[in-house]
Amino acid sequence: MQQTSSAYQIDGRSTGSRTIFSSLLRGSMLRCPACGVGSMFRRYLKVADACPHCGEALHYQRADDAPPYFTIVIVGHIVVGLVLAVEMAYHPPLWLHAALWLPLTVILSLVILPSVKGALVALQWALLMHGFDPDFKEDSLPRFDVDPT
Ligand SMILES: [Zn+2]
Repeated sequence: MQQTSSAYQIDGRSTGSRTIFSSLLRGSMLRCPACGVGSMFRRYLKVADACPHCGEALHYQRADDAPPYFTIVIVGHIVVGLVLAVEMAYHPPLWLHAALWLPLTVILSLVILPSVKGALVALQWALLMHGFDPDFKEDSLPRFDVDPT
């Protein structure tokens, strides 16, 4: 058990207040939603098991397909808007469209994806989803590996 300035932790889960806005901000900056100091990720998109600064357990996150989904929505709105604006203003040839927008789409997606994932993990943490609830018990989950026959 590790002490933090605002609250003590139970099994790596802090019991202090969890405001959604500050959690989203910290998560989108790739920081721990609890302290805002430690890094949330240990690699590009791999969430650390616990915050290296305060010890907050982060392995309870279940971001799954949500970060790519929201990244596609964000990047799609940016790129499609730019494509339409450039086409209306300059009527460039198709090869120039492809040369501009394909790399921009890939680069924007790779840049935005970690921030979106960080924000979603922080939102799960702030809303006490999955195992982020300090009152959560591992053995309270239904077991699906038991054969009913
Ligand atoms: Zn932390």
